[in-house]
Order: sequence, then C-alpha cells, then structure tokens
Amino acid sequence: MNLRPPYDALLIALCYVVIAVLWVAFSDWLLVLLVPNPALVRNLQTYKGVGFVVLSGGMIYLLMRVANREQHRTEMQLRRLSRAVEQSASVVIITNDRGEIEYVNPRFTEVTGYTFDEVIGQNPRILKSGATSPEEYEHLWKSITSGHDWHGEFYNRRKDGGYYWVSATISPIRDTQGRITHFLAVQEDITGRKHAQENIERRNRELLLLNRVISAAASSLQVEEVLSVTCRELAITFNVPQVVIALQGQDSDTLDIVAEYGSLHPGAESALGLTIPLHGNPAIECIMESHEPCAFEDVQRDPNMAVMRPILQRRGVASTLLVPLLVRNQLVGLIELDTAEPRRFAPEESALAKHVAIAVSQALDNARLYQKVADHNDLLMRAIAEHTEELQRVKDRVEAILNNSPDAILLLCSDGRIETANPSFYRLFGIEEDVYNQPISQLVDAEDVLALRRALKVAAEEARVMRIEVTARRGDGSMFDAGIALSPFEERGMRRLVCVLRDITPLKEVERMKDEFVSNVSHELRTPITSLKLHHYLLGVNPDKRNDYMDSLAREIERLADIIENLLMLSRMDQDHISLQLAPLDIDTLLMQYVSDRALIAEDRGLELVHKPLAGLPLVQADRGLLGQVLSILLTNAFNYTPSGGRVEVRSLLAEEDGCRRVGFSVTDTGYGIPLEEQPYVFDRFFRGQVAKETGSAGTGLGLAIAREIVERHGGRIEVASSGREGEGASFCVWLPADCE
Ligand code: ADP
Repeated sequence: MNLRPPYDALLIALCYVVIAVLWVAFSDWLLVLLVPNPALVRNLQTYKGVGFVVLSGGMIYLLMRVANREQHRTEMQLRRLSRAVEQSASVVIITNDRGEIEYVNPRFTEVTGYTFDEVIGQNPRILKSGATSPEEYEHLWKSITSGHDWHGEFYNRRKDGGYYWVSATISPIRDTQGRITHFLAVQEDITGRKHAQENIERRNRELLLLNRVISAAASSLQVEEVLSVTCRELAITFNVPQVVIALQGQDSDTLDIVAEYGSLHPGAESALGLTIPLHGNPAIECIMESHEPCAFEDVQRDPNMAVMRPILQRRGVASTLLVPLLVRNQLVGLIELDTAEPRRFAPEESALAKHVAIAVSQALDNARLYQKVADHNDLLMRAIAEHTEELQRVKDRVEAILNNSPDAILLLCSDGRIETANPSFYRLFGIEEDVYNQPISQLVDAEDVLALRRALKVAAEEARVMRIEVTARRGDGSMFDAGIALSPFEERGMRRLVCVLRDITPLKEVERMKDEFVSNVSHELRTPITSLKLHHYLLGVNPDKRNDYMDSLAREIERLADIIENLLMLSRMDQDHISLQLAPLDIDTLLMQYVSDRALIAEDRGLELVHKPLAGLPLVQADRGLLGQVLSILLTNAFNYTPSGGRVEVRSLLAEEDGCRRVGFSVTDTGYGIPLEEQPYVFDRFFRGQVAKETGSAGTGLGLAIAREIVERHGGRIEVASSGREGEGASFCVWLPADCE
C-alpha cells in the first residue's frame, strides 16, 4: 500500500494505540505464554506500566517524526515552487480579489520595465495600451470572478512607452473555503511572434497588391484599365482615400491626371484632367532626380509643394506620396497617394509603392510598345488590304480581258498541251468539255498540224513570238480561218506559251472583197479609159462623126468621174472630212425634183417612174445635197436592176416611233430583187450582188455604202426589203428624225 504522508503517520499512530491497548489487556497472558519462568513473569508484570509509558513515548516520538518529515517535505516543495515562479520565462502576476498586484516575478520587470516595488498595490491596468476594448475587459473580469479561467492576448504598453504583445491566462485562486482570494496571471511575451506575423501579413498584403497590379498589367494592354486597377489597389492597401495617376501630356511640359480612385471629401470634384507642371516644380524635380518616391507630410507648409500646392489644396490634400513612373529611366508619369488628414508614409510603404510603380511603368512601356506594334500592324494591314485590293482589281481586269476577249486565249505548256482556256475559246470552238491537257494541234486541220507544231517548237525553244494562220476545226467539225499568235513566257522556271487564237474569217472576207474591189475598180476604170481611147482614136480617123464621139467621150468621162467621186466621197467620210449643211428640207420637194430630172432616163430605159407625195409631211433638218445623193444612188440602182417595162415608185413616208416622228422616203422597183442571203451585205463597201455581175451593170459596190454613211450621219437609218424572188423587186426606205418630243 502506498499512502501519502499524513495518512501513513495516522496509521502508525493507530497501530501503536492498538498495540498499547493489547499490551495492557493481554500482557500477563503473553508473559505466561512467552516466558516459562513464573518468577520472571512476575518481575516483568511490575514493569508493565513502564512498558506502557515507553511505548506511548515511542509512539509520540514516531508521530512527531512523521509530522516533521511532512513539514520538511512541504517546505521543500514550496521552495521549489517559489524558485520556479521566480525563474519562470513567463510573466507571473498575482493580484488580490480587488485586482491589486501582490506579486510579480522578475520576468515581469524584464518585459514591462516596471520593478516589483513600482507595481505592488497597483492595478494591472497601468499596462493598458488602449488596444483592448472595454467590453473585452468586462468579459475577462466576469469570467475570472465567476471562477473561470480566461485566455487571451493583450497589446500592452511598457514603462518606456513601447508596446509589447502577451498571451495571457488568468485564473482565480480560492482559499480552503472555496472563496476567490487572488488571481493568477501567467503571460507569455509574444511580441516577436506578433511582429513576425504582422510582417508576414504586411508582406502578404504587399504581395497581393503587387500581384493584382501585375496581373492587371499582364492581362490587359489597355493602359486605362491598368491605371484604374492600380489606383484602387493602392488606395485599399495603403488605406488612403484617394490615389491618382498622372501621365505625360501631349505638350510634354505637364503631367495630366488620367486615372483616379476615391475622393478626399464627399462630393469632391474629380481630379481627372488636372495638369501638373513638370518644369520649375520642386516636388517633381525631387522625384525626377532621385527616381524614388517622395513623401510630403504637410502639403500646406512644405516649400517643395510651392507649385503643386494650389492644385492639391483645391482638392483638399493634406499629405501626399508622389511615386515616379519611369520608362527606361525617363519620367513618364507619377502616382499620387493623397490623404485628407496629415499622414506619415513609412519607408516600407514608399518601397512598396515604388514596386507597384515599377510594375505600372512596365505595363505602360508594354502598352506603348503594343500600341506601336498595333499601329505598325494597322499600317501593314492597310497596305496589305490596298495591295490585295489592287491585286484583286488587276485580277478582275485580267479576268475581264480574258473572259470578254473576242479572241480565244489559251495557256499552253511548251509542248503545246492546253492548261487553261478562256470562255471565248469554248464559244469559238463550240466545245463544252474541259480541254485541259489536250494538244492544241488537234484543233486544227490535219494539213496545218505540222506548221503549228513547228511554230510551237520555235516559240518554246527560241522564246520567239510566232504567228501562224491555220484552218481550225470546231467541235461540230466545221472549219474556220484562224490566226494564232504564240507568245512565250517563263513561270517558275518553266517555259509556257500564251496562245491567242482569232477567227479571221471576216478579215479573210474583207481581203477577198478588197481583191474583188481592186479587180472591179480596175475593170470599171479600165472600161471608160478604153472607151475614151477608142473614141479619141475614132475622132481622128472619122471626123465626120465628131459629135457622136464627143457625146460618148463625155459620158465616159462622166462615168469615170462618178467612180472617182464615189471613191473620194467614201475616203472623205472615213476621214470625217464631210460636214453636213443642215437646213429645213421638204422631202417631197426633193423627191419631185429628182423624179422629174430622171424622167427622161426612165423613159429611155422603158421604165415607169412614179412619185407619190404625202400631204402634211413635216420638214426635216437635212443636207439637201447629200440627201439628194442618197436618192440618186437608190434611183440609179432601181434603174440598173429593173429590166425594161418595170416600174419605179418613189414615196414620201411618215411614221411615229418611240414618241418621235420620222420622215422618210422609199424607192421601190419591180426588178430582179435581192436574194435573202445577200441582203445583210448590200450596204457593205465594195459588195456587188449576183444580179450586178450577171447584168453587167456599171458599178463599184460603193453606192449603198455611201448612202448608209450619209443617212446615219443625219441620225437616220436605211433599210432594204425584198422577197428575193425575181420580178418582185426590191424596196429601199430612208428614215430621218423629224421633230422629236
Ligand atoms: P453597185 O450598184 O455599184 O453594185 P451598190 O452599193 O449600189 O453597188 O449596190 C450593191 C449591190 O446591191 C448591187 O451590186 C446589187 O447586187 C444590189 N442592189 C442594189 N440595189 C438593187 C436593186 N434595186 N435591185 C436589186 N439589187 C440591188
């Protein structure tokens, strides 16, 4: 059994009491039992009282010893406890139940600076810093007076005015009756930890601020957005009512406030748009020189604020921290942290503001670079767009040329295979399927294949433009005359050929007509000249018939003159050397004159010539001589191509067309007529129809061409109508504009 000191002493005492009682009651017995000698028993019985006394004394002695040992042990413990408290690293304060300090340990003095004697009898509130609220103190007092422990932290003031943090536990101390007689406060100095924690928190806040500003700077190239985020974050972190940012203005002599957050007074005017002079401004010179933030605690009095003071005072700024924004060591702006109450900016605050300014400066630089790149990009894009547009225009033009060219244009490989062909090619050849990779030689007559291949070879190998005329074959097998031009060019190191293929049928026709004309003209000129020569000869050999010969000579000369006149007339018209002498003309008067002039000739030819005028015919603006020439040509043709016995009728005409009245005349005969297939060509130059050839009538094929030129120059038109059947004759109508509305 392991009993604690008071109990083992009692037990020993109890044992002694029991032994003593047993001794008194049973000592005789024991003596008889234990001692065989009766004499000795008797002797011993006489000392029974002595034994009792000895026993009692021993017992008391023993009790005393036990009691002493307990006291000693308690003293030892108290001493140990006292040493522990004295040497404790914790602050120990013991107050009485009224809160008056009765004991503080040496650590208390170390921490607070107050000595033991200075605080005895004092209330611990001498340490109050004001950081703990009265409610908190009330709660503390309630807890400990109601017998509970209180745990918490105090921000206290030392004797020297400095501050320190403690973590405290305050416990009530009760007496044996359970009454609270004292309070024990054990406190740990946690100032270091608190400072470290505050440092961490401050660092965190700074990092958060930097992070927000840098994130804004990194995520946005919009300067305004970065500046606005910076103002807001700085105002929150530094707990200042207003932050503004000014950037270098257009004239570079001022800083213009371009961003702001918060205001110094309710309803205060915005600072945006205000300008800060750069030169002759000591505050700006201060940050320009040092490249460091400058704090001005008293805007009102600081001499460096002389220039800025009016601006700041108007806004109600009491203290300001100016932080330079530097891009490549050049001041481009500043951040202004403003307060309405005087404030001192700590060095670490300046340092943090500087870090923020570096991030903002970087963002400004990036934004400017980006703007430069964007501007350059814009320029580039515009140039590309213009070039693309130009290319598109060129492409459109080339396409328009290719698509609308009447000639077939093909792109050929050097060996003559077709790569591409324009729409005209397909139209001209009447082909629908793609001709890609087909040899061009298959489009020409077999007889021309060799010549074409030779031309291709020379063009490709000698890089010479080749021209060749071939007979081309359409898709339906029909042939036409084609002129081919082969132009070589280089494309990515490959020789290719542009082939322009033209239908030269009309040219060939013109050529043929020209040949025919030359032969006709030569014939027509030769005939009168031969006749002239003959009559000239006859005049010499047979002067009696002089008059007859002279008449013939005159007619031939006349005929020759006509032919030459016609040729000259066309030539003059081609060169635009003929001007119309317009004057109001009565068509019927003209018709009547010509009909009457030709009456004898008609009679001579056995033809009936009739004029049918129209009443109320309006006048026309016309060149009388030229219009008479048209009528003359038509009458001549009617006489030439109507056999004797026929009839020639001349009529004046009136019609209305598209709101315009038209006046005209017609010459209708009952002659050979004009075959339908010839009708499209009768107005072409040098064209002479079958009937002209068969009848051998004099002519050059120029009459109707001249007539059409003259009529068209009057703004009119000439038409032919004929059934094409012999004997049904032909009719020519001339229409001229009268008075158009
Ligand atoms: P030319 O009469 O000198 O041959 P034109 O130009 O006057 O030349 O006429 C062209 C052709 O038109 C004539 O060759 C003829 O074939 C045809 N022609 C013109 N007028 C008539 C007509 N009244 N009847 C039949 N054919 C005509």
